[in-house]
Amino acid sequence: MALLQVHDLHAHYGAIQALRGVSFTVEVGQVVCLIGANGAGKSTTLNAISGLIAATSGTITFDGVPIQHWRANQITAAGLVQVPEGRQVIAPMSVQENLHLGAQVNRIPRAERAQAIRAIFDRFPRLAERRDQKAGSLSGGEQQMLAIGRALMARPRLLMLDEPSMGLAPLLVAEVFRLIAQIAADGTPILLVEQNARKALDISHYAYVMERGAIVQAGTANLLAHNEQIIEAYLG
Ligand code: ATP
Repeated sequence: MALLQVHDLHAHYGAIQALRGVSFTVEVGQVVCLIGANGAGKSTTLNAISGLIAATSGTITFDGVPIQHWRANQITAAGLVQVPEGRQVIAPMSVQENLHLGAQVNRIPRAERAQAIRAIFDRFPRLAERRDQKAGSLSGGEQQMLAIGRALMARPRLLMLDEPSMGLAPLLVAEVFRLIAQIAADGTPILLVEQNARKALDISHYAYVMERGAIVQAGTANLLAHNEQIIEAYLG
């Protein structure tokens, strides 16, 4: 059974139809990416899964349970945790305080938080060095790491990342992707939305290509990375 199964998902913003019957799955142990041009519906798909917008129709099944009518906080509590586009760390709070917030949303017992924060600092040494610094004064790459670290504090069973490379310098993009691949290798399945299709395919097992609110291609990341049409359209 798939960990996440999205079936025939439709979503609208007023009169605009943003999703037109999106279906895909994420299995345990996988990194799955959604790639596609601006406005294809990638973020809308993630936001519908995490309950930030209401789907018009379709089903979203997580670990066998239909969740399409659940509220966002119930979905997070079930272990489907999203790192939103644009990072959205709490600027006036310190790195450590931001991490504590991640644990609070899912009521991780206080006694277990210190250990969890140590694990995050082991994974992101840049955050350890800046633990008392205000999140708003971190660089873009460090804020992205903090946003991912905060999501990990909520103990995700599936981590959803929306454009983690957005606005980062190439060296940092490489570092963020290396960290994402490491998180997956350590056992957290990942659903990734990315404009940087090449980097996304590099670390994914399976990929779906979206166009105008629908999935138009699917396959192993390796297969799509060598597909002429995909190379021309998205990998340039
Ligand atoms: P990008 O990579 O540019 O973020 P995307 O593939 O994530 O693109 P979405 O952001 O999901 O695409 O947008 C899908 C469609 O829905 C687009 O036509 C977009 O203009 C529209 N849309 C997205 N958010 C809203 C909104 N809040 N109100 C109205 N229309 C929206």
